[in-house]
Amino acid sequence: MDYEIVISSNVSEELINAVSRYWLFRDGHFVHNLNTINEKTINKKELINRITKHSHGLIHFPNCKLCFSEFEILVKDRKEFITKVNDQELVCNLCKSFSPKYQEGIPLHFPIEISINQLSEIEYKILCGIVKLKSKRLIYRHIFNNDLENHEIWKVINTLQKKGLIWIERDNSWRIKSFGFKTEILKLIN
Ligand SMILES: [Zn+2]
Repeated sequence: MDYEIVISSNVSEELINAVSRYWLFRDGHFVHNLNTINEKTINKKELINRITKHSHGLIHFPNCKLCFSEFEILVKDRKEFITKVNDQELVCNLCKSFSPKYQEGIPLHFPIEISINQLSEIEYKILCGIVKLKSKRLIYRHIFNNDLENHEIWKVINTLQKKGLIWIERDNSWRIKSFGFKTEILKLIN
């Protein structure tokens, strides 16, 4: 998960400092206690109000659970930030608006170990290939053998995506940028 902070223009340097301290998030928590964001400010509540009025966070998620594409979520304050980061069922706003599947409920993912155990031999082989080859070039060469029209392989890749084991990062023209996978998988495959 990565994120960026968006700050409105025309804010004082002091507020910019406070804003970056407010949003600094590392290893699962906010680094600065709300009381120490700006030592000089007496009225903390007012300071937080100014911070959240003039800035917001944009969290980047690698894959929507329904369309598998990258998406961003705007968060207004720390509380929303934590909620969104902890939410395991995140779906992009466009799928929320238009996908009938969203109404049916998002399929829950099994724990990774179980998902891996459920894979067929060929699915497992392709998962290992994606994890070990990493680069798009090598995946195209050694898994697809340069035949990107191979529907059987795409079917397997879709299955792996549906199980939440891998995702595909794409650019705005829907071209593949890279293949990603959950790092926990490294410990679970040979
Ligand atoms: Zn989506």
